[in-house]
Amino acid sequence: MIKVENLCKSFRTEDVETIALNNVSFTVEDGEFVAIMGPSGCGKSTLLNILGLLDNPTSGKYFLGNHEVANLKEKERTDVRKGEIGFVFQSFNLIDELNVEENIELPLTYLNIPKAERKAKVQAIMKRMAISHRAKHFPHQLSGGQQQRVAIARAVVFSPKLILADEPTGNLDSKNGAEVMHLLTELNHEGTTIVMVTHNEHDAKIAHRTIRLFDGQIVEEGNQ
Ligand code: ADP
Ligand code: ADP
Repeated sequence: MIKVENLCKSFRTEDVETIALNNVSFTVEDGEFVAIMGPSGCGKSTLLNILGLLDNPTSGKYFLGNHEVANLKEKERTDVRKGEIGFVFQSFNLIDELNVEENIELPLTYLNIPKAERKAKVQAIMKRMAISHRAKHFPHQLSGGQQQRVAIARAVVFSPKLILADEPTGNLDSKNGAEVMHLLTELNHEGTTIVMVTHNEHDAKIAHRTIRLFDGQIVEEGNQ
């Protein structure tokens, strides 16, 4: 699913160069659930941004499926991202002005899926995420747990092969966090590949494998 080779990313601000990723190489197989851990500033977000085609590496290769995607043009990057990758964020990132069903429908609209099919998919995923009773609510009217269930619904409504999750339980209490991890585990069992950044050792244990970063390099990679 994912193969990165000698990924490097540096940021230059004025005269200071920060090396955020330094020769990072790993693969993620189809259907794997991988956790990425490491202290603040070690490069986790930078790595997830590159995997999610939100940013380009300074050098190195990135194969998603069988396609080299490290240096695509903006439009191609956006198409691959919106067609193949579902994102789940710590802060949910729902659109405040759209209600629950409109938020979930967005990725389907981007993919030009016909209206009747969009409605059916949104209804089905809301039911699955136990959020149907809040279809007309706006994000600020929902609890954190409910917002994250909506965000997961939006991430998976178009059946992406890959989910990238950035601290998906970071803003949730333990009960809602456990529920989110349960949903991600179910999606993984159905064949979705998941790469998740987390600070939470308990959540990392639910993944198959942990990649640990320190100062932009992989320091440990192992099966649970
Ligand atoms: P983490 O997610 O593990 O906390 P990051 O990937 O956010 O780490 O950051 C890795 C390093 O790159 C840090 O030293 C950070 O300050 C630096 N960095 C990240 N993004 C930028 C940026 N846009 N400009 C300059 N430096 C950045
Ligand atoms: P859950 O445990 O299902 O995540 P909570 O116990 O946090 O939900 O919230 C109980 C109910 O209160 C929820 O169904 C939610 O719709 C409602 N609620 C929570 N926060 C708000 C809010 N800020 N404004 C309006 N309703 C809210």
